[in-house]
Amino acid sequence: MTVNLLDFDAEGLAAWFAEQGEKPFRAKQVLRWIHRSGVADFAAMTDIARSLREKLTAVAVVAPPQVVSDKLSDDGTRKFLIDVGSGNAVEAVFIPEDDRGTLCVSTQAGCALDCAFCATGKQGFNRNLTVAEIIGQLWVANKALGAVHGANFGEGRVISNVVLMGMGEPLANFENSVTALRLMLDDNAYGLSRRRVTVSTSGLVPVIDRLRDECPVALAVSLHAPNDRLRDELVPINRKYPLKELMAACRRYLDKAPRDFITFEYVMLARINDSDAHARELLALVKSVPCKFNLIPFNPFPGSPFRRSPAERVRRFADVLMQAGIVTTTRRTRGDDIDAACGQLAGQVRDKTRRAAGRIIPLQEARA
Ligand code: SAH
Ligand code: SF4
Repeated sequence: MTVNLLDFDAEGLAAWFAEQGEKPFRAKQVLRWIHRSGVADFAAMTDIARSLREKLTAVAVVAPPQVVSDKLSDDGTRKFLIDVGSGNAVEAVFIPEDDRGTLCVSTQAGCALDCAFCATGKQGFNRNLTVAEIIGQLWVANKALGAVHGANFGEGRVISNVVLMGMGEPLANFENSVTALRLMLDDNAYGLSRRRVTVSTSGLVPVIDRLRDECPVALAVSLHAPNDRLRDELVPINRKYPLKELMAACRRYLDKAPRDFITFEYVMLARINDSDAHARELLALVKSVPCKFNLIPFNPFPGSPFRRSPAERVRRFADVLMQAGIVTTTRRTRGDDIDAACGQLAGQVRDKTRRAAGRIIPLQEARA
């Protein structure tokens, strides 16, 4: 069977090279060709001996996932729709800002956690993405953005930050997400600092501890409610890991986190979780967790029962948090003209008339 070298981090690639009777430094060279230079063709890896290049061509491939569409928003946001087989597609979104460029990466096709306000959740769980499919989003975006090779690498790189905040729950696909994270951090691959790589989770408490032990990067926790009664409804995983346990896991994470705070994400749903009383309740909840808040205006999608909180309500809510000394930002909605905003990522291959049933249809059918 042909091996896809995009599935390996440095350690995995070195082990595979050893099995082939090749030296570890060869693995490092190949890793650099693949990720730093964006080269998929072994024949083009010019500092590798011809015999090894031929051998690699015979037994291995560098097979990135296929981009089926690439849309540019008026605000510069760029969305890549990526085919992951069996009629499934996931999305990666590039968000340029003045001082950085962030790629939002997906980790699962669909999601099993079924948060009430999330389009990905509404399509149900399909499968975990492979390492090649996760890191492949960075690989293809880097190429499409003209960011590979030489000058653009290092200082002033085009993709300076990565967030695992696209489709799916990264901590429910832990092994593959962590292998991809290691590549993002590896100087022979993408060389990003731990502070510039963020995992967003809905709160899988035991896996938050594993991430802390195995690969601590910046952590964002999707909070969305100040008490268990409301959070049980909005984020059903809360029934398994209630807020008290979640806050304790956040405190434990901070022992090893590259940043000295947790980012709490909070989607603003009109008349559901957006009152001043909710904000005050939040202050009590998080008082023992150094944190920042990121308020996300709800992004509607067809069939969702929620409405976005009015801008004035979001501002007042933010004021309550800020007056208590908590740094609070409100996410600007980006790319909503191309359905690339948070929570709108649905792969766009589903039959829209059957959203409620959550049917996932084959790509060919969707394009027809
Ligand atoms: N599963 C992870 C990461 C993917 S979701 C998590 O839940 O954290 C990324 C963020 O988008 C989460 O904070 C999620 O709550 C938020 N989100 C989901 N649906 C949304 C919507 N319709 N509008 C705004 N934000 C949404
Ligand atoms: Fe899954 Fe995150 Fe959406 Fe919840 S918000 S359903 S955890 S992708």
